[in-house]
Amino acid sequence: MRYISTRGKASSLSFEDVLLTGLASDGGLYVPESLPQFSHEEIASWSKLSYADLAHKIILPFVEDDISSSELKAMVDETYAGFNHKAVAPLVQLDQNEWVLELFHGPTLAFKDFALQLLGRLMDHALIKRDKRLVIMGATSGDTGSAAIEGCRHSERVQMFILHPHERVSEVQRRQMTTLMGDNIHNIAVRGNFDDCQQMVKQSFADQSFLNGGQLGAVNSINWARIMAQIVYYFYASVALGGPHRPVSFSVPTGNFGDIYAGYLAKKMGLPIKQLIVATNENDILHRCISANQYEKQGLVQTLSPSMDIMVSSNFERLLFDLYDRDGAALTELVTGLNDGTANSLEPQRWQQARELFSSHRVDDEQTCEVIGQVAQEHNYLLDPHSAIGVEAGRVCNQHPEVPMITLATAHPVKFPDAVIKAGQAAPELPVHLSDLHERPERCKVLDNDLATVQSYMMSQL
Ligand SMILES: *Cc1c(COP(=O)(O)O)cnc(C)c1O
Repeated sequence: MRYISTRGKASSLSFEDVLLTGLASDGGLYVPESLPQFSHEEIASWSKLSYADLAHKIILPFVEDDISSSELKAMVDETYAGFNHKAVAPLVQLDQNEWVLELFHGPTLAFKDFALQLLGRLMDHALIKRDKRLVIMGATSGDTGSAAIEGCRHSERVQMFILHPHERVSEVQRRQMTTLMGDNIHNIAVRGNFDDCQQMVKQSFADQSFLNGGQLGAVNSINWARIMAQIVYYFYASVALGGPHRPVSFSVPTGNFGDIYAGYLAKKMGLPIKQLIVATNENDILHRCISANQYEKQGLVQTLSPSMDIMVSSNFERLLFDLYDRDGAALTELVTGLNDGTANSLEPQRWQQARELFSSHRVDDEQTCEVIGQVAQEHNYLLDPHSAIGVEAGRVCNQHPEVPMITLATAHPVKFPDAVIKAGQAAPELPVHLSDLHERPERCKVLDNDLATVQSYMMSQL
């Protein structure tokens, strides 16, 4: 399998090159040249597989030029053995046809563990084979940072620098990052906001000369390997509920469009999915685009669901690439226009296609709390604010009540006690493996919001 850039200029790469590169040299994102196709018979035959065995089946065609079947098997087995639930991704039934897929049983209690636990192992494997080292730089508003650190901390060939906005992530989120000790782990708290952090990461990727020949690697969802790992749980949930013979729908709390894009790929690979619902908070550019063909950047709103607080969704470009018939030149023109504000909509017939593929809904903080309260009272189940947005969007957008609606529960409610308390519920307790989180020592460097300062600190640690 080869991978091509959405902007059409960078040359195609192998899986491992894409894994270690992140962004393409033409500024585009890598996507597979073609997708593996699975027949209904084949999907049906997977109904008794463990999560790890299913992951092996689905991921192998994407990586087999670089990784042998048995090597991949060992990696997925190790990855998902580290989850705290035997089913790895258990389904919980709320109502007749309403389900929640719990994706928060990994070490850091958010769905990002599904991809980042595997990513660390994939990177290690590639770096050892090539006898190379990698400097990872990432910005986080919370969940990505801890999941990435947890995923890469045993990797001897990776030095990892994670920037978060100083005093602007929740206490649980901060401690999940700063209490993970390792000589290769460097937490940097920037005296600025998340956009400042992200800007510094972008600038560092664009000009890597400060590393004196070193190479930067990416852990955010522009990295194809993250998307790939997320395709698996769509298949897993479907076959658990009678798929492929019985179709299902998914509602996905969405920020950067990585998670729901993986669902779209699952559908293209042969999984019968009736509806794919983009659930957003008040940062609703995707909802405005899908429902009204209005793609205009607005100021960032801080919400109770901070992991979905984004202005633009980087992975949307991967979908647009398909909607524009994989024409790199047309896409470059469109994306450049959307980014600099000279364009604010899609061509009408492309937009129609997007509407046929996705429904969307926006949920504000007040409704989020109402849903948390209602589901707690009537179904005795505590949702985190991101998952609550998914449940609400699933209810509003549901056009096929006879089909199971599965909301991806992207985080454990213990990570977001403020929203839970606002919703009138008691704050949940930390799970056993994190119960002493508030007593653990922390390590973190606070730095000024200045690129040169951050880069020279990085060099001093390498
Ligand atoms: C990252 C995250 C999301 C958004 O996922 P995307 O792939 O960026 O759309 C939603 N919920 C939680 C809890 C997250 O951590």
